[in-house]
Amino acid sequence: MAGGAARFFKIFSKNIKEIRGPAPYTVNGLEVICVHCRYDRFEHGFAQLNTAFLSFLNLDFANRSANTLTCGRCGYVHWFNKEVKRGRV
Ligand SMILES: [Zn+2]
Repeated sequence: MAGGAARFFKIFSKNIKEIRGPAPYTVNGLEVICVHCRYDRFEHGFAQLNTAFLSFLNLDFANRSANTLTCGRCGYVHWFNKEVKRGRV
């Protein structure tokens, strides 16, 4: 019984990892390929392009965020100032 539960959770966590793990992305209709190692799966993140100075002046509307795609293999960070889409073309 306990072994069955452990097995279930192992499969469950594996699926979660696949859902949340590195995935293919497209930008501007093109599949993103790592410029360093040619890998095609990435972790999506955001990076603020803001400055502490603008925040200090309460001008956060002037701040923008960029999309970052971190290569799932070599870790190279790709920056995009456009929308990135999860999945292949
Ligand atoms: Zn890479």
